Amino acid sequence: MFLGSIFKSTPLILSTMCGIIAYIGLKRREAPRLLFDGLRRLEYRGYDSWGMALIGNPSIEVHKRVGAITEARFLLNNNGACFHAVLGHTRWATHGGVSEKNAHPHLDCTGRIAVVHNGIIDNYLELKEMLLNRGHVFTSDTDTEVVPHLIEEEMKSGKSFGTAFLEAIRKLEGSYAIISACKDSRALLCAKKDSPLVIGVASHGYFIASDPVGFLEHTRDVIFLDDHELAVVTPESVSIFNFREEKIKRKQTHTIDWDLERVEKHNYPYFMEKEIMEQKETVVRAVLQSEDTIKRVVDMFNNAYGVFFVACGSSYYAALASSYIFSKVDRKHINVVDASEFRYYRDFITPKTLVVAISQSGETADVLDAVKIAKKKKARVLAITNVMGSSLMRLSDFTIHMNCGPEICVVGTKSFTAQLAILELIAHALMGKETEVKNAYREVSRGIEEILNEENRTKLDALAETIKDKEHVFCIGRGVSHAIALEAALKIKEVTYIHAEGFAGGALKHGPLALIEEGTPCVVFAPEDETYDDIISNATEIKSRGGMIIGVGSRDHDVFDNFIRVPSLPFGTHLLSVVPIQYLAYRMAVLRGLNPDKPRNLAKSVTVK
Ligand code: GLU
Repeated sequence: MFLGSIFKSTPLILSTMCGIIAYIGLKRREAPRLLFDGLRRLEYRGYDSWGMALIGNPSIEVHKRVGAITEARFLLNNNGACFHAVLGHTRWATHGGVSEKNAHPHLDCTGRIAVVHNGIIDNYLELKEMLLNRGHVFTSDTDTEVVPHLIEEEMKSGKSFGTAFLEAIRKLEGSYAIISACKDSRALLCAKKDSPLVIGVASHGYFIASDPVGFLEHTRDVIFLDDHELAVVTPESVSIFNFREEKIKRKQTHTIDWDLERVEKHNYPYFMEKEIMEQKETVVRAVLQSEDTIKRVVDMFNNAYGVFFVACGSSYYAALASSYIFSKVDRKHINVVDASEFRYYRDFITPKTLVVAISQSGETADVLDAVKIAKKKKARVLAITNVMGSSLMRLSDFTIHMNCGPEICVVGTKSFTAQLAILELIAHALMGKETEVKNAYREVSRGIEEILNEENRTKLDALAETIKDKEHVFCIGRGVSHAIALEAALKIKEVTYIHAEGFAGGALKHGPLALIEEGTPCVVFAPEDETYDDIISNATEIKSRGGMIIGVGSRDHDVFDNFIRVPSLPFGTHLLSVVPIQYLAYRMAVLRGLNPDKPRNLAKSVTVK
């Protein structure tokens, strides 16, 4: 496979929400500590509760908690016990409330089999009914709990743990990364479909995790599992079996060349601040695509009849922003579709369609779903992702790497600007102007530096203090800035929990203007382009109703109560204008006493539909 060479040259792989991790190996005494540290590393992905199972003799110890991953007493009072395997989970609840009983791991009736799972078992109700009829007792409301009971049921007829696990997996519909241990077995078993799973090969044993970050301290040698693969992992070996093809698989080990340094906060209090500040480098890296890559992408666009951009959340707004650029620069119509809605356009997709799928993690379930539909229709798929080796990359015909390094904060900042930069690059590359864009981005980088210099950060801080307790914030813009306004509002609402909405400048008078009251903050994106006069007049309409106008652009205006200056450049200006609002949102969150890295109810990448 060609991935090996890519991993050597790329500095990152990261993915998805919630997480599972397990260890089996020689460090039997330290195993609980290894697991605990791994769970802590995975916590950036978002979770609501966590748990671990320590598999020893004579029994399985299960510890579960709601909320933060804190030193559990059993770890501090380590009594020297040894465990032949350990498994843990950070949960982002999909089925069953957030409670200790619903936290994973889940056990069978006999307490011999433990299971952790990321994903959703679609047919769990049917399976649960069958198991209840056979006398199984359930102790949680999760979909996951059917799995240990299914394994138990299979083992009742004398099957080994391995065979029972395989049979159980065959009965599951939905998405899963599952790890299971049995008290009487020397192996850990795991299986994957539509949720990521990777095996870490360490000198003292093996890790299994949804993300290499969980075990990076111990090894950078990894084996990525593909869908429908099941692995049997003992302290000495890994065997992989594809249960759909009924074939043993020989898989390569890849060495990933990034390290923990890159996933540390350094001196920043939060990853969000670190990642906002990193943008001056990441936007430049994003446009440094090779000539070959650009040629491939240009060919894909030129050979297409009909182009869809599919994405979710911030990536969707990046797609929407760029659609205005494609229209202006290339006279090209781009259909921008929220990935979760793409299936309803499927009748419109032909083998000539180009689907550009955008996802930071490359694991966003809605995006993967859209891509699978596109592939069924034989359309071509171009991926834009930050995670080499991700499911999206594996499903696509060609991938552009965002190159912006691990993004740990749950809300996207540098991934959004990297996507905008890449899409702007492509729009101009279609006209043979990629070199101009590449050169111009040095200026964009300096622009970001200026926007975030100490003086400007102090000003933004003061503004954050003024508006941090407001009930609503509105953001408006026209053209590309319309999409920027949507993204700005998303940032504010995600991290501050203040109601924030983005609108096209012209849309306000058709309804939302009714919401403006004395002092309601309204961020007005007013770059010096064709939208300037019209957006100023929209700002004036808001001001007349008492709104407090925060202008973002390069030309100040009387209507602005507060002005955030961003340089006006030939390329990347729109990207620049979102940066101060990212920082503003960040500061508002901190001033409100919130943790912007882990907003409530959200997870880093949404691997469920
Ligand atoms: N569907 C499972 C649950 O709600 C797993 C969720 C997850 O991936 O964390 O417990």
